[in-house]
Amino acid sequence: MKRVFSVENRMLVERYRQVLEDAGIPCQLRNEFLGGGAGELPVNEVWPEIWVADEDEDRARALLAAQQAREADPGPDWTCPRCKETLGGQFDVCWNCGMLRPGE
Ligand SMILES: [Zn+2]
Repeated sequence: MKRVFSVENRMLVERYRQVLEDAGIPCQLRNEFLGGGAGELPVNEVWPEIWVADEDEDRARALLAAQQAREADPGPDWTCPRCKETLGGQFDVCWNCGMLRPGE
């Protein structure tokens, strides 16, 4: 097994695991439940980690890199068709009126 991803944020780990599993790569989460009470361990050893089989490592790393690139560049702003509010590309829902982004 190889560790391909580790991050403090559990939500992020879950999302990245989903990316891999959607691509057919089985993964294992480690340290999933240690986050809260692990006072004696160095902080970076209690972050949740994603591990994959050795033969899946290269593909997993490529997928995660692509995912990170997408998140770093959320795309252009969009305008709510209902209330005309301008929204950042990272949002899928209008914060003003609750309208879903068209095309999502
Ligand atoms: Zn709106």
